[in-house]
Amino acid sequence: MFQKSKRLISAEIMEKHQEIFRCPLCKTPMQVIHLQSVVCGNQHCFDIAKHGYINLLSRGIGTKYDKKIFEYRRLISKGGLFNPLYVALSQIITAHSSNEPISILDAGCGEGSHLNNIQIEINRKEPKALLAVGIDISKEGISFAAAAYSNVIWCVADIANCPFTSQPFKFILNILSPANYSEFERLISDDGLVIKVVPGQDYLKELREIFYKGSDKQTYSNSLTISHFNNQFNLLDVKSIRYQVNLSKPLIGPLLGMTPLSWGTSKERIEKVLQLNLKQVTMDFKILIGSVKNKPHD
Ligand SMILES: [Zn+2]
Repeated sequence: MFQKSKRLISAEIMEKHQEIFRCPLCKTPMQVIHLQSVVCGNQHCFDIAKHGYINLLSRGIGTKYDKKIFEYRRLISKGGLFNPLYVALSQIITAHSSNEPISILDAGCGEGSHLNNIQIEINRKEPKALLAVGIDISKEGISFAAAAYSNVIWCVADIANCPFTSQPFKFILNILSPANYSEFERLISDDGLVIKVVPGQDYLKELREIFYKGSDKQTYSNSLTISHFNNQFNLLDVKSIRYQVNLSKPLIGPLLGMTPLSWGTSKERIEKVLQLNLKQVTMDFKILIGSVKNKPHD
């Protein structure tokens, strides 16, 4: 039986939505050609990779995220640690969608588990046309995302120069990842929402206590992030979501490897945490929901 390749499946989704692409080099519209490449009017050409993603960076940019961190995050996501967050985000999206198709950009999607799970959660409750696009500057992350999940347009791209036309997205997700608010403002539709997830005060507090006991990093404040967000958008709501998850032993290593908390710490301290045999950790997030401020029309 003929089975479509990952590249073909992705190329067809890209072709169906090709009007969203804009050349990152010359900013002209782009088209999918022969289900092989995405090309602009000035012949800047980007090939669709075998795994089914497209690299729209004009040059390679090194990031500190290596493949291992994405593998860890995938394991943590598969272990269910983010599930209540996925449910909360999908509820916000469906509550703000009427009958029109849903379009979501996940800016800084990493290895793609968040977006994939949110998409599944939305479809489970209310199957309807849904365009999901994930971008990340890390080629390792996007390649890993595309290899596992097919129903998303995955792009290696710079969030400071997104390869999309203006306003194609009703929802922009920005989950535990740096933002670029002027680009978000350009990309979001007039009635759209920017949904940013930041760690709450108690996020992984059990680890924080071990690593940063007595230092100012033991507590975490997100008040600056929230006021910055509020300057840029109309802050409609801040939802708090806090829960404890059971931690099976095989997940402790990945959890430590995934989090920036442990980057500055030594192997010995990581060993120490493993020996402490943590049974539960606290997940704590703030979800900032903003709409576009009135902007002058160009
Ligand atoms: Zn171009």
